[in-house]
Amino acid sequence: MTVTTIGIIGGGQLGRMMAMAAARLNFRTIVLEPQVDCPAAQVANGQIVAAYDDPAALAELAGACDVVTYEFENVPVSAAQALAGSIPVYPPPMALEAAQDRLVEKRFINGCGIPTADFRAVDSQSDLEAALRDFGGQGVLKTRRLGYDGKGQKVFRSGADSADGAYAALGGVPLILESFVSFEREISIIAARATDGIVVCFDPAENIHRNGILHTSTVPASITDATAVAARGAAETILAALDYVGVIGIEFFVLPDGSLIANEMAPRVHNSGHWTEAACVVSQFEQHIRAVAGMPLGNADRHSDCVMQNLVGDDILALPDWLRRRDTLVHLYGKTESRPGRKMGHVTTLTAKSSVSP
Ligand code: AMP
Repeated sequence: MTVTTIGIIGGGQLGRMMAMAAARLNFRTIVLEPQVDCPAAQVANGQIVAAYDDPAALAELAGACDVVTYEFENVPVSAAQALAGSIPVYPPPMALEAAQDRLVEKRFINGCGIPTADFRAVDSQSDLEAALRDFGGQGVLKTRRLGYDGKGQKVFRSGADSADGAYAALGGVPLILESFVSFEREISIIAARATDGIVVCFDPAENIHRNGILHTSTVPASITDATAVAARGAAETILAALDYVGVIGIEFFVLPDGSLIANEMAPRVHNSGHWTEAACVVSQFEQHIRAVAGMPLGNADRHSDCVMQNLVGDDILALPDWLRRRDTLVHLYGKTESRPGRKMGHVTTLTAKSSVSP
């Protein structure tokens, strides 16, 4: 397959950064996104302004591109499958199916031999009450689909939180109750798999969330080499099981004994991998583009320690201070209007590398 033009479904900042990486490797990009002048379209070669599942728009995208990828995991599976009938779609639609529904995702991850939090499907208030009894009154209730940045979730702490009305409060949609994991820290790993099956992983990042939104990713994470090796191993297993092509982000809880519990996976480039553009020779975005275009993967070695911080909402007011710093790469997303909880950009601050990657 000779790739000249890459289609990107979704027009947010992840698509924008993919399109920028693609341009550096001489690829053209076309974005399918209903919102005009979206972050990705500002830097891509073209935009098809239409819904993600518009059949005519999908046909136009397939006709204009050599391969199609996506920047968010809620691309309708039927749209991805329809496209895959006429053009390579990477990551494969199977990865979307595995990641869109938390119940399917947990079963898939467990099927790979990787532990997750214990879980119960919750389709009614009585299911919820039974599941909470199973978990000693504690747990995290989440919508099975379409949750992001901590939205569509409710935490129950033993004895403190009443379940009354909780099923209806999350919209009466299919839910999952997860047992509460008393983790020591949260990490994620960004890994890439090429069309020839070769896997390359970046170093795990340690993530701190604020109000359900990623605040910082710090690399190296404060974990042992054994934990880092386990995260890489889990990523390799998941990627092989999905016959995956492209970059994936997998989030884990680290228990006090260093063992890992997988939380969720995103079949796309990931916010907790933005640090790679500043601290590695090849970023997650370039790695993804290389993979979907059938190129060899790049070197994911880290040359510096770093902290990536999201600029969310009014954080953007501190931009002049960040711009003055000599140790910081600033990346803005082309969003003119700042709103609470809206990711406006990110900054990555570098320091000398302190440790050898396992
Ligand atoms: P998620 O949307 O699944 O990534 O959850 C958002 C955040 O909620 C995670 O990053 C954790 O900080 C917390 N969280 C989610 N699930 C659990 C769990 N089962 N036990 C403890 N904390 C959780």
